[in-house]
Amino acid sequence: MGANESGGNGKGNGAISVTVWNEYLHEVKYPEIAAVYPKGIHGCIADFLAAAGMDVRTATLREESHGLTDAVLEATDVLIWWGHMAHGEVSDAIVQKVFDRVQDGMGLIVLHSGHASKIFQKLCGSNSGGLKWREDGEKEIVWIIDRSHPIAEGIDDKILIPHEEMYGEPFGIPAPDELVFASWFEGGEIFRSGCCFKRGKGRIFYFRPGHEAFPVYHMPEIQRVIINAVRWAKAPYVARFIDGHTVTPVVEFSHTAEFHSIGELHRSSKT
Ligand code: ZN
Repeated sequence: MGANESGGNGKGNGAISVTVWNEYLHEVKYPEIAAVYPKGIHGCIADFLAAAGMDVRTATLREESHGLTDAVLEATDVLIWWGHMAHGEVSDAIVQKVFDRVQDGMGLIVLHSGHASKIFQKLCGSNSGGLKWREDGEKEIVWIIDRSHPIAEGIDDKILIPHEEMYGEPFGIPAPDELVFASWFEGGEIFRSGCCFKRGKGRIFYFRPGHEAFPVYHMPEIQRVIINAVRWAKAPYVARFIDGHTVTPVVEFSHTAEFHSIGELHRSSKT
């Protein structure tokens, strides 16, 4: 599937501009996965986001620049990331560009096995790839931890997923700024499955469900969480200031008689 499903960038009509990035290899390689997601995982997610009124484009690994050109990133309010078998093929230069856009206010939603992606590890500053896993199609209950959080809006207490891959703690992330969901699995493990982080001006949400072999992104409650997360991750206001520069005082103050500034003190102490 090509990029730019809808073409627009959302700047003119007020809609949130979302780019859904998918590695898009499982669906091409395995017929049984293609049967679950005939349009790819990105196509499924793009469809329900567009139905929610968002301005959606898609991008995939094998496209030029992985579909994430400077123009696409610049026009993107919120980027969604699904990857699994080819994290190592994602260019470090593109990862740096995504990282810089997050610092500058682009929202990022990392799904399922994206926990081990280069971009999520870089933003976490830790080995977020570290966790336990088991692919037995067991039951998952996604419990709401933070009932007042906008990402949980419209979800009644919990989401029951009939069949999922298990992820278990300990999960190698830094302590989330906000924990919205935690999961229980039939085999007994638990997992922090809905985690918010803030990095620079950007908001990041990690959401665990979404193993490619099960139709998880077809579930209305899961779609609701991702729609909520996009709205949350698009920061309503981004403070405008220039990073990394010295600035003049906002309020006037008088200097001591001995020196006129700390800078001068430093300079005089070196002579
Ligand atoms: Zn998986």
